[in-house]
Order: sequence, then structure tokens, then C-alpha cells
Amino acid sequence: MRVLLTNDDGFGADGLMALWHELQSHAKGIAVAVCAPERERSAIGHAITLHKPLHANPVEDTGMAGPAWSVSGTPADSTKIAVLALMEKRPDLVISGINRGANVGIDVLYSGTVSAALEAQVMGIPAIAVSLQGERNLDYRAAATFTADLVARLPEAPLPGRPYLLNVNIPARAPAGVAITRLGLRCYDDKVVRRRDPRGRTYYWLAGDRRDPARAEEGTDIWALARGLVSITPLRFALTDDELAPALEAWAAELRC
Ligand code: MN
Repeated sequence: MRVLLTNDDGFGADGLMALWHELQSHAKGIAVAVCAPERERSAIGHAITLHKPLHANPVEDTGMAGPAWSVSGTPADSTKIAVLALMEKRPDLVISGINRGANVGIDVLYSGTVSAALEAQVMGIPAIAVSLQGERNLDYRAAATFTADLVARLPEAPLPGRPYLLNVNIPARAPAGVAITRLGLRCYDDKVVRRRDPRGRTYYWLAGDRRDPARAEEGTDIWALARGLVSITPLRFALTDDELAPALEAWAAELRC
């Protein structure tokens, strides 16, 4: 199985390196190529670079088998460039992560980690986004082992239908089990902090507090992490609000054009 590994924390980030080592040493028959942004691009979402050139620099002496590149663009750029220009053969699977910090609920729309995987799904390639709960001093080893086990299982138990995207979130402490979940919704109370700089100009800082995850709806990714479970959410790009469409049809008949 040919795997493309990418992330949004940047080439060389601890989570990516831990997973790279684990995939290479643990999972037999897996050939890994790495193509990741040269610097951290967390919360860049699904941005792609259209108006300036991109550079993909081969990274030598990684001590790992398989090629590696660091790219001057975004996570979604990295997936595109790797698949369309750098890899000799199309990957069978794209893995993005392991991200520093969970990607649950609304996070998935802002997340470069999830977007790099979503880009693969859009290109018709199955993908897994992996994130580890927590903010600092994260130990990625157990999360890397879990992910490599999951990847090793895939050829024996292939998932049916269209190319899948699994959004995997791993709790900071040793997991109590695995839950297949749906995407939670709001998990922050957003706020904007307004301050004054030393020159007297007003500036703003986007901020927010995480809502108490213990109150999350049962069956969601937020709920699972709050219970110490690994959360696996199957995602796809389909934002159409089907429930609203009939009401909108009647409304549209009255529009003049
Ligand atoms: Mn990140």
C-alpha cells in the first residue's frame, strides 16, 4: 500500500515524525512518502495557492525509507502537488497528522489537517485525518501506534463505496475504547478581544472558550473525546441543506430574473 503522509503543523513536527516512524517500523507492506508544508499552517482551512509559484524541496537524510518533500504552500497544496506531480504512482491512502490538538465539530472547517485529507477524498483517494487531544507536551507514541494499526487493518477489511475520509481524534490519556461518531456542532463560545496598541490604535484578537464538552450531544466526536474514547467520524464534502430545499423552491418561484 502506498501512503502519502502530510500535515498542517509543518514538516518535522513531532506528530508527523512519530507517525512516520511507526508506519515504517510497524506496518509491513506500507511504503510511505511524505509531503508537508515547510512551516506550520494550522487553521489555514482548505486554502490553495494560485497566484504565486510553489516550491517542493526534497528532504534528504531523513533516516527513513521513501521520498520526502517540504512545500512552500498549504496542506491542501501539499496533497495536490504530491499526487499530481511528485509521487511516481498515485497513493492508495493519504494520512494527515498527527495534529497537535483535537479537530472536532466546527474545527474541521478551519483545520488544515482535515483539509489536506479532504483534498485527497475530492481527488478520489481514501484519506485519514488524525489529531491528538491536548495543547502542549503531547506524547504521540500511543496515537501513532493506534493509527498504524488502523492503517494495517484497511487492506483486510476495505471500506465499501466511495473514497472515505475518516476524521480520527485520539484522547490525551490512554483511550477507554473506540466510538464511531458524527460531527458535533458548536464547541466554542466565540469572542473578539479588543485592545489598544502602544500607538493608540485599536486591534482585535479572535478568541473563544471551549464549551464544557461534558454537555456535548451523545454520539458526537466532542462527546466521545470527553469520555476518553477514540472518535472516528466518517466525513464527506456535502454541505447542501436538503431540508431547506423544498421551502426554497416555493420561494424561488417568486423571484424575478
Ligand atoms: Mn495543526
